[in-house]
Amino acid sequence: MTTKIDIGILGATGIVGQEFVAALEDHPWFRIAWLAASERSAGKRYEDAAPWKLDRPIPRSIADMIVESCNPSGSPILVFSGLDSSVAGDIESEFAAAGRTVVSNARNYRMADDVPLLIPEINPEHLRLLGQQHTVRGWSGKIVTNPNCSTIVMTLALAPLTQFGLETVMVTTLQAVSGAGYPGVSSLDILGNILPYIPGEEPKMESETQKILGTVEADRIRPHSVVVSAQTTRVPVTNGHTALISVKLTESPTDADVIDEFRSFRGRPQIEDLPTAPNHPIVYLDNPDRPQPKYDVHLEGGMSISVGRLRNCPVLDIKFVTLGHNTVRGAAGAAILNAELMKVDGLI
Ligand code: NAP
Repeated sequence: MTTKIDIGILGATGIVGQEFVAALEDHPWFRIAWLAASERSAGKRYEDAAPWKLDRPIPRSIADMIVESCNPSGSPILVFSGLDSSVAGDIESEFAAAGRTVVSNARNYRMADDVPLLIPEINPEHLRLLGQQHTVRGWSGKIVTNPNCSTIVMTLALAPLTQFGLETVMVTTLQAVSGAGYPGVSSLDILGNILPYIPGEEPKMESETQKILGTVEADRIRPHSVVVSAQTTRVPVTNGHTALISVKLTESPTDADVIDEFRSFRGRPQIEDLPTAPNHPIVYLDNPDRPQPKYDVHLEGGMSISVGRLRNCPVLDIKFVTLGHNTVRGAAGAAILNAELMKVDGLI
């Protein structure tokens, strides 16, 4: 591909917006042409509007760009959204109605019948919903979403297990503070502490998983029958959501079978060799004290999840630990992978 596609970023000043900027700076297919955020940021240099919070330097080519307000006129045909969910619903639909392709992180449209909730390794065929979206909403553009950050990490680990008859999942998460955006959780609340409540997180993990693992039937998703019970907590970790998962299966695979399925799991991103695709979406770690956020969150640029401690569960069948980078695999990287798949499928 010789000519890059101009892209815009809605919510470019937030934590997810900054991950978009960092990941797209040297992207082989996409070029950052337009940045937008709230009226508080509009008209300012990007560097002034968005105090840089990543552990890599701000791209100099982007730092001087002027932040726009979230108005579709003048925006490129493809926009990534890291908007706060309090405003994403109206703004994203306005862009889709104006003919833009919106690849969103926000929760607002994830569970809509006509909107794909995509993890490209798992359910690329869900993009078929887009035909119905055009008919039902009359948009000349479209919206595609990625799941909640914890849901992505968990569901990537569950996907290889569906062949063994996935029945029931009990999950407890330990979620990083970057998952709450910036400035996010107060230091007095989180230092030396664990917060046992993340508003709205548990229902998302329970319902989004069924949609992601569901099958397309007559332009509708038939949800997977798996029952998920989630407990979600916020812990004093900077990046990386850990999920402690117990699973009931209808079949009885050996540990070796399960580990083999984790390690050999691949999907369309790997087949198509998409630029953001990790070679190994799931890395199984043999050492019993892994995965750990401090050491394992950056595997394959944050796009691989890591799994470890597979063992028997005396209540359900098996249990294991999963870790993934919440703002990369769980947000910006997930959306970029979605757009790359849409590009090779001729949807952009
Ligand atoms: P954040 O740091 O709080 O950033 C929110 C962004 O939304 C900022 O760019 C902000 O612009 C913009 N915004 C707020 N009010 C606005 C308004 N009235 N009009 C236009 N723009 C407005 O949040 P975040 O963590 O990056 O999360 C962004 C989205 O991704 C959320 O929907 C979140 O649920 C989702 N998400 C986050 C994660 C994660 O790990 N952080 C993972 C998955 C999904 P200003 O700077 O101008 O206020």
